[in-house]
Amino acid sequence: MSDTIFSKIIRREIPADIVYEDDDVLGFRDVNPQAPIHVLFIPKRPMATLNDAESGDAALLGKLLLACADYARQEGVAEQGYRTVINCNDDGGQTVFHLHVHLLAGRRLTWPPG
Ligand code: C5P
Repeated sequence: MSDTIFSKIIRREIPADIVYEDDDVLGFRDVNPQAPIHVLFIPKRPMATLNDAESGDAALLGKLLLACADYARQEGVAEQGYRTVINCNDDGGQTVFHLHVHLLAGRRLTWPPG
């Protein structure tokens, strides 16, 4: 896949407000937050969309979700609630083609999404 702005964030070539990191996952605040807490969790090994995930990526996908849940607990919003979102391709509203999970929390979120 081609390089994206998220690969540049992983390589520290552009700044980001990084709130979580382990060997496989990076979490940073969204520059255009849609909720009081809006963090993006990305795999350090890039894949463009969820469509590119294979069975061998199951542990990595699980790590992304566990990182979301851990961060929500750390921020004290786990009990009140939060939302995780993966946008995929055009109809899903994806704009950056490096897989990412949005974690949104800190306000009452409406459903269905637009
Ligand atoms: O799911 P989607 O691809 O639309 O989300 C991309 C997200 O990446 C947007 O919420 C946008 O605000 C965020 N972004 C960011 N930092 C950048 C570029 C985009 O947080 N440098």
